[in-house]
Amino acid sequence: MSWIKEYVRTIPDYPKPGIMFRDVTTIFENDVAFPKMITEFADRYKDNGIDKVAGIEARGFILGGAIAHILGVGFITIRKEGKLPRETHNERYLLEYGEDALEIHKDALNEGDNILLVDDLIATGGTAVAALKLIEKAGGSVTDACFIIDLPELGGCSALQAKECNIFTLATYEEL
Ligand code: AMP
Repeated sequence: MSWIKEYVRTIPDYPKPGIMFRDVTTIFENDVAFPKMITEFADRYKDNGIDKVAGIEARGFILGGAIAHILGVGFITIRKEGKLPRETHNERYLLEYGEDALEIHKDALNEGDNILLVDDLIATGGTAVAALKLIEKAGGSVTDACFIIDLPELGGCSALQAKECNIFTLATYEEL
């Protein structure tokens, strides 16, 4: 079992009945687990030719900012619609019920940049694939993506791999 699972808190039936919410704020709050986790991610990408790290609002900011700092590269914010002040690209994606949209600043990166995409958890992959498309629209490519948690039953990693993106996750939960 991954060491990180000891620090993940599972909240049944949140935010709605039937969902097992994997709460990673318990990792962020822990003096040992948070730095250990960031080091593990950063070590993996140290010599990988990553030009910038992109994080998805909001937990991806906490992880991605810390990883970018260690790698010595800039950080790109991928935000919910309407939050970014300059010109943006927009990508809509389906949720279990309804849809949502993410945005990136059009000038957030340089043409041809290799981007490491970061979020806390991948489930269906809808969020991560939308973020990948935004980075591509802005001229970069997502060579790598990392998440604390994968829910493989929902197929998100396969969806991202189909876009030729390498994926690293610290823990897998087979049961939803
Ligand atoms: P998806 O687009 O289906 O891959 O969903 C991923 C996004 O939804 C991530 O930003 C997660 O933070 C959040 N998410 C989805 N399912 C869960 C879950 N069971 N526990 C915690 N967060 C989740």
